Amino acid sequence: MFLEAKNLSKHFGGLHAVKEVDFSVEKGKINAIIGPNGAGKSTFFNVITGLHRPSSGQVIFKGDDISKLPPNKIALLGIARTFQTTNLFEQATVFENVVVGHRLRTKSNLFDAIFRTKRTKQEEEKCKEKALEVLHFVGLAHAAERMVGSISQEEKKRIAFALALATDPEIVFLDEPTAGVNPDETEELAQLMQKMVQKGITVCLIEHKMQMIMKLADKIMVLNYGEKIAEGTPDEINNNEEVIKAYLGG
Ligand code: ADP
Ligand code: MG
Repeated sequence: MFLEAKNLSKHFGGLHAVKEVDFSVEKGKINAIIGPNGAGKSTFFNVITGLHRPSSGQVIFKGDDISKLPPNKIALLGIARTFQTTNLFEQATVFENVVVGHRLRTKSNLFDAIFRTKRTKQEEEKCKEKALEVLHFVGLAHAAERMVGSISQEEKKRIAFALALATDPEIVFLDEPTAGVNPDETEELAQLMQKMVQKGITVCLIEHKMQMIMKLADKIMVLNYGEKIAEGTPDEINNNEEVIKAYLGG
């Protein structure tokens, strides 16, 4: 088993945001999670990537229980993520954002990330090389010196991908990676996800755009009110009555 959620639950007080979910990520594939707003999709990602401790259940990565590890440790194991909204420094360049963002993700706290870098010149150079490499991969090398404040929404999404890729992940969790971009740009970002898979990275994404996800995903899990109500190939999900009911609010 590659990465697996076992009977995973997360409660916030009396609210069951994620309820006894079993999910196994298929290696080398595009795994999608869909479901209405508030279904618990982001919380599910937050528990897997260490932002929240599970209330019960486990996250197993390559045989090890990682459910009690902090986010930076999980990132260093090769599990990366993007957020629904990425906080970028608008007054800094694309390149600077990737270098700093990379540090923030791998250090245990802000202080370490900014002050206690303990980096030799060589390490610093490596870090910059990595930033350029991932910017090249996501198609943003030409914009490296532009201010983030002046680039498009779709380019900002690409920066989020670059940040996730900078840790050399085996698996990336993408939370609504195409939200707020137009259909052509959505298609381009979908191609970028396929390119990640071709590079050997396993993709796990939360997505609202049904047409796109039905074309892109190998496997889909549907959450509703924190519970898994369906799982299968796009064809299986498309014809599932529970899923249709959940989306129509029945
Ligand atoms: P989705 O991503 O599917 O839209 P979320 O995982 O963001 O859903 O939220 C699921 C439920 O958990 C919602 O009712 C939301 O209000 C609640 N929730 C999410 N995060 C927190 C939190 N940190 N504290 C309290 N409630 C939360
Ligand atoms: Mg969400």
